[in-house]
Amino acid sequence: MSTGSSSKVKFFSGEEIPLELHKVRIVQKLFLNPIDQRLKAMQTAGYNTFQLNTLDVFLDMLTDSGTNAMSDNQVASMLQADDAYAGSQSFYRMEAAIQEVFGTKYVLPVHQGRAAENIISQVFIKKGDIIPMNYHFTTTKAHMEINGGTIFEIYTDEALKIKSTNPFKGNIDVSKFKDLIKEYGAERIPFIRFEASTNLIGGQPFSIANMREVCKIAKDNGIMTLLDASLIGENAYMIKQREAEFKNTPIKDILLAMFNLVDLSYFSSRKVSSTRGGGICTNRKDLYEKMRDLVTLYEGFLTYGGMSVREIEAMAVGIRETTDETVISQSPSFIAYLVNELDKIGIPVVTPAGALGCHVDCMGFLPHVPQSQYPAGALAAALYIISGCRGMERGTISSVRDADGNDVLADVELLRLAFPRRVFTLSQTKFVLDRLTWLYKNRNLVGGLKFVEEPSVLRFFNGRLEPTSNWAEKLVNQFKADFGDSL
Ligand SMILES: *Cc1c(COP(=O)(O)O)cnc(C)c1O
Repeated sequence: MSTGSSSKVKFFSGEEIPLELHKVRIVQKLFLNPIDQRLKAMQTAGYNTFQLNTLDVFLDMLTDSGTNAMSDNQVASMLQADDAYAGSQSFYRMEAAIQEVFGTKYVLPVHQGRAAENIISQVFIKKGDIIPMNYHFTTTKAHMEINGGTIFEIYTDEALKIKSTNPFKGNIDVSKFKDLIKEYGAERIPFIRFEASTNLIGGQPFSIANMREVCKIAKDNGIMTLLDASLIGENAYMIKQREAEFKNTPIKDILLAMFNLVDLSYFSSRKVSSTRGGGICTNRKDLYEKMRDLVTLYEGFLTYGGMSVREIEAMAVGIRETTDETVISQSPSFIAYLVNELDKIGIPVVTPAGALGCHVDCMGFLPHVPQSQYPAGALAAALYIISGCRGMERGTISSVRDADGNDVLADVELLRLAFPRRVFTLSQTKFVLDRLTWLYKNRNLVGGLKFVEEPSVLRFFNGRLEPTSNWAEKLVNQFKADFGDSL
């Protein structure tokens, strides 16, 4: 398997652009509708990008979950799926791929990442436990809290800074970990969790040096180590790019080094390999045996775990492809291109560029919109109206109200523009850059949002909002004045 990467291709012109190291053989038609139609679609969707129909969306940058492009080999593998309730060959092929790529002997299949979180939390967390981690993920936090655990995010001081040159904002702060052990005692800490390419703080990686240090402290104190490997390929790629010791190490060896440090790991296959599904992996028989029966109870028999055998086949191929640098570098190099171009022209974005997507800092972009009027939601709506590109609000709308019903203002107001793997081309990326640049010039036209229908749980999915003034119409008029009848 070739292990080249687009980041290694230099252009004679000196231009720093990523190169697609794949050819497009199956395509899906996209619709870039006129701006009046997009305004109407946004109104119908209650100014919530989750509520849009993809027929109205040009570039769908909502998420990388289940939206990566599959390879020809993944699609082909689905034909050899072995339909069997028990003992399916498809499972054994997937198990062999995990043993080879992650270096872990035992594999429990589950229907998606949060199912692994459910089982791990039920088995290992008891009421009153303390769970340290670099940063939470929404579903992780929910499962751990339901089981009586309290999460402690022990990230470093750099982690939440929008503008930074720190290559490893996903690192764990070692001294905060030591303090937690001192304060609560190791007995109350069932495990410490590392999340690869830390999702909610902008897809930021941790280093192997940090992992080694934290794992040593954990081991010395008898604390188990857990790795959320949903975005492991991208974290491995960024280690190769940013951690001097691993500059010349093949990705496959970086992956093995990471898994080798921890007791237990799990992943969402929606991210790792563009299929539904997930898995829990370990080399420790005692841990495997503790979890095994819950897989049969909640997920399905041990050789399918709630997945179809076709998905299991595609997952096996996808896991092997995670060791191919041309595959895992694609999304980070396109994200880096967009982030660096935006940064150059002074548009506020999270730096350094990470995995998953480009994260626009909406409080910096729309300083005149108070946080109580949801700047990240407003910017997501405005970008959709002027470009047909759909991003995701990751700010106060995604938080929950406190016990008194007050909004809890988020640490950061981000608009995430996700780059599913090998889905978008460079000209599409340049289109996003162009429209964001125009929007930044006209940012004073963008106003705030307010809720008109607010569900009490996970309001960001199904909530409906409206603009606090007629700013959307003014934005449309300015667009028409500048672009004429261009889409
Ligand atoms: C997506 C994700 C999960 C949850 O996985 P699902 O397959 O969506 O249930 C857990 N952790 C991280 C880091 C993720 O990105």
